[in-house]
Amino acid sequence: MDSRETMLEELCNGYRIFAAHGWGDLGDGHISARDPDRTDCFWLLRYGVAFAEAEPSDFVLLNAEGLVVEGSGDVNKAGFFIHQPLLAARQDISSVAHTHTQWGTPFSAEVRDVEPITQEACLFFEDCVLFDDEEVQVQSLDGGSRIAQSLGRNGAIILRNHGLLTVGTDVAQSVSRFVMLERVAEAHIKARNAQPISGQAARRAKQDLSREGADRSAFEFLVKHHL
Ligand SMILES: [Zn+2]
Repeated sequence: MDSRETMLEELCNGYRIFAAHGWGDLGDGHISARDPDRTDCFWLLRYGVAFAEAEPSDFVLLNAEGLVVEGSGDVNKAGFFIHQPLLAARQDISSVAHTHTQWGTPFSAEVRDVEPITQEACLFFEDCVLFDDEEVQVQSLDGGSRIAQSLGRNGAIILRNHGLLTVGTDVAQSVSRFVMLERVAEAHIKARNAQPISGQAARRAKQDLSREGADRSAFEFLVKHHL
C-alpha cells in the first residue's frame, strides 16, 4: 500500500461501502488497516462515527497494546480484540473486515463450510474455514488469538453464530472479498439443494477469480456503484 493518506481514503470508502449495504447501522463491525509506516499499529474508526459519514480524520491509530498513538477518541473494543491478533499473526495481510450481515450471520448459525456452489464461491475454495467456537462476543485478545489460529493462512473465516470475516493485503481486497462472501452466504441460504461443482473445476475458476488486479477492480466497482 502506498501512503497513509491514500490508505485512509480507501478505509473511509470501505466503511461507506459497508453502510451502503445497510451494515453497521448499530455500530457493529469494523474494518482495520495496518499503518504503512508504523507497521505494528493499525487504524480503526472512532467509536460513534456513522459508517456512512466516515472521514480520514475519524480514524484512530492503535498500537499492539491497544493504546491510541494517533488520533483521538474510543474505538469499538471488540474491534481491537479481533483485529490485533490477526494482524500480528499475519504479516502478509494489512486489512481485516468484519460485520454482521443479512445473510452472513444466518449462514454462520448453520455452522457449515462454504462449498463451490456458485461462481463467486469458488474464490473461497480451500481458502475459507469455520471458527467453531462459542465466544460470539469477543471480549479479550485471547478470543481474537483463537480466531487467528483458526484462520491460519486462509483468506476468510465464518465465525459461527456470529458472522463473516475476511482479510486482505489491503482494504480493497478485504472489503471486496467481504462483499463477495456475503453474496456466497446468500446463495448457500437460498439454494437449499445446491450441488457443488468438482474440486478441480472450482480450482480452475478460483485461479481466474483471484487473478492479479481482480480485487482492486471489484473494489472500484463498489466505490463507483455505491459512493
Ligand atoms: Zn462481530
